Amino acid sequence: MTLHNIFSWSKSRDETFRECPRQYFFHYYGSWGGWENNAPDRVREAYILKKLKSRHIWVGETVHHFIEKMIKQYPASQDIKLEEFSHKMTEQMRNEFKASRNGDYRKFPSKVLGLYEHEYGQNISDEKWKEMHALALRCLTQFANVLFPELVQPVDPEYWQIIEHLLTFEVDQTPVYVKIDFCYKNSDGVSILDWKTGKSEDVDSDIQLSCYGLFAHQHFNIPIDKIRMMECNVNTGKNKESSLIPAKIDFIKHYIKNSIGRMRQMLVDVSRNTTTEEDFPFTDNERTCRFCNFQKICPKFS
Ligand code: SF4
Repeated sequence: MTLHNIFSWSKSRDETFRECPRQYFFHYYGSWGGWENNAPDRVREAYILKKLKSRHIWVGETVHHFIEKMIKQYPASQDIKLEEFSHKMTEQMRNEFKASRNGDYRKFPSKVLGLYEHEYGQNISDEKWKEMHALALRCLTQFANVLFPELVQPVDPEYWQIIEHLLTFEVDQTPVYVKIDFCYKNSDGVSILDWKTGKSEDVDSDIQLSCYGLFAHQHFNIPIDKIRMMECNVNTGKNKESSLIPAKIDFIKHYIKNSIGRMRQMLVDVSRNTTTEEDFPFTDNERTCRFCNFQKICPKFS
């Protein structure tokens, strides 16, 4: 089966585009097909680099993954099983760390985790790596002991709707992807819960929550004032609740439409979603470059 690179929108795509157009090119176009054995060398390299994760992203995704597992098994067991999942998470992180340090991801980039810090030979002390593991354990414990009993356990599983799914809806005839951590629907309306493991930046987190709201409004066909959203920080245990108003829905629709328009302007052929690398400028922000997965192949540094 041939896969087609279909144009779509997501908050992370928008962020990458805003950070650096050339990075956006590598991520969404220059690495396309890099999973094939016969991919050209540079495409394969871009694909390997695209898959790298920083240690902070690694911890965030791992915690999300284990929270999802904990919630999904809860209705059958009636036990959140913190000890068991903490142990499994430690095992997984240990194995992933070792495989990344060995460079196994270069052979199997879609299956084996590669850490940015290993690929770019960053000198991270053992203490710092241990801190990342401790952070993951703290987040999982906080979730099991504080957030779960307060926010999830009281909701009858028959009202649970979505747990960690990649979902799509349309804006301006373009598929928009959102990933919702936990969502339930009862007689009061729809509640969307978003687990955070770090500090959220207000503007971007507002965009994300408004995307979730727009999705819920369309998907459940529910009035805007019946949608409640909550950011739950599994690191600090603090929650921030927000509700939707029509102005926020208008804002996010315009925001997505404008972002789609700017991305489409860069295409050589809109109907085929094709591009030319040289059309995508480099960022001037040296900090973005310092943490960019694609430094090794970026012409700005060669
Ligand atoms: S190294 Fe810098 S200019 Fe090159 S793609 Fe990355 S962020 Fe953009």
